[in-house]
Amino acid sequence: SDPKVQLTCDNPIEFSKVDANMLPTVLLIGRPNVGKSALFNRLIRRREALVYNTPNDHVTRDIREGIAKLSDLRFRVLDSAGLEAEASSGSVLGRTAGMTENVLKRSQLALFLIDARDGLQPMDLDVGKWLRKNAPELKTIVLMNKAESLDDGLGSLAAASGEALRLGFGDPIALSAETGQGMVELYEALRPLLEDYMVQLLNEGNQETSPSEDEELKTPLQLAIVGRPNVGKSTLLNTILQEERVLVGPEAGLTRDSVRVEFKYHGRTIYMVDTAGWLQRTNQEKGPASLSIMQSRKNLMRAHVVVLVLDAEEIANARRTMKHDEVVIARRAVEEGRGLIVVVNKMDLLRNSRSYDSVIKAVPQEVQTVIPQVTGIPVVFVSALEGKGRIAVMDQVIDTYGKWCLRLPTARLNRWLGKVMGRHSWKDSASQPKIKYFTQVKARPPTFVAFVSGKKQLADSELRFLTRSLKEDFDLGGIPVRVMQRIVV
Ligand code: GDP
Ligand code: GDP
Repeated sequence: SDPKVQLTCDNPIEFSKVDANMLPTVLLIGRPNVGKSALFNRLIRRREALVYNTPNDHVTRDIREGIAKLSDLRFRVLDSAGLEAEASSGSVLGRTAGMTENVLKRSQLALFLIDARDGLQPMDLDVGKWLRKNAPELKTIVLMNKAESLDDGLGSLAAASGEALRLGFGDPIALSAETGQGMVELYEALRPLLEDYMVQLLNEGNQETSPSEDEELKTPLQLAIVGRPNVGKSTLLNTILQEERVLVGPEAGLTRDSVRVEFKYHGRTIYMVDTAGWLQRTNQEKGPASLSIMQSRKNLMRAHVVVLVLDAEEIANARRTMKHDEVVIARRAVEEGRGLIVVVNKMDLLRNSRSYDSVIKAVPQEVQTVIPQVTGIPVVFVSALEGKGRIAVMDQVIDTYGKWCLRLPTARLNRWLGKVMGRHSWKDSASQPKIKYFTQVKARPPTFVAFVSGKKQLADSELRFLTRSLKEDFDLGGIPVRVMQRIVV
């Protein structure tokens, strides 16, 4: 949801107050059975993990993501189990390449696990080589897991450490995901690195970073089409694909969940996130609605833009526009910081019905009511079956993505701030906080920090006012804009 964070100037950074969306991402990597899952579980404790890409063969495994808690540290942790096959076989199939790229690009730090008991294996060296090749800039810490079993006083731990140096990532940390031994050392190694990242993130906005449009065009737009079974997701995707050049189609012979669809729209590469679950299933095979939520939730983690499809006929027949699980998905998308578009499908069924107009009126209203924190979520009415609305949907996707990637220069923002502060009716002039400057610290989605001088902080209502004004003045409908404050003295 909206502003929660207050970063004060006196370090240390309070990670527990940082918006989850801004937290650094730490990737767990290593060959199978070194204990990545065990460490992942220890780091997220009972917190919820989001699992995506769950094929039913043994070629790849899940990618899990969760919020790690290590004393006062918080960070996003990614368990990269799915990358193993690729790294170890050495043959980049292209099948997971997009995902890999995505995972590496999102990570600020890698924790490279090896098994302290086994000593260095050829596969560990492969993983190291692979990391260096694909992410030469990624700061990597080697963890010798299962170290509790080596505490034999015979120097085997020291020997293992010496061996681990051969990986070329510096001194390893010995720990045990199982017993928790070594977690203090891990904390001490992580803290300065994660803090540096946060400080850099906050300061980045102070420089005039101009958007690199090239880069935006180069990276595929990751699109998820989500919704309950039978609302017409497959039909909609098929109408979109009919007209476009499909670069990579469903791959035969692999698991059905590893289908990957990539196509071009107006010169931009669009990568469909996890369509397989509903694309290949026949109607009879479709599971209960709750299944589709799970499917949708895991898709959200990878998507830039989420299209939530609703069924117009269901809306006309029911009193409520959105069913509970649809509201859950929409809120989730916004909380995860994704751009959201609502598509009302099957409008053809209402063509001669009295409900036609009321549906068109009711849906945007209800969307606004159930997701008050994001104003102006686009709602598109289509008939996928008749192939109508394809362009409207795709144009909206491109538009939303552009806004999601928006970077506003600090100078422009401060000119804007000057005007907007005059608009708010502050209780009295003394109660008006002094915002020294206002800056965007992050895009995708746009995240801003108000640097406030003196003792007076911005009240929640004032942060909301700034958020709302930004959305209105820069036309950021459907985008979860975030505004935080930082006190400067
Ligand atoms: P992954 O394939 O890298 O995710 O590895 P897992 O987390 O599934 O662990 C593989 C095996 O190693 C499991 O049987 C774990 O119980 C075991 N394991 C994980 N961490 C430790 C540890 O710190 N000490 C010991 N002795 N075993 C561990
Ligand atoms: P999914 O489960 O969300 O992927 O839904 P499907 O695309 O499989 O569609 C479910 C059913 O709705 C199929 O029988 C489709 O033919 C039908 N359907 C999809 N879109 C439309 C539409 O725009 N109008 C009508 N009348 N039916 C549609």
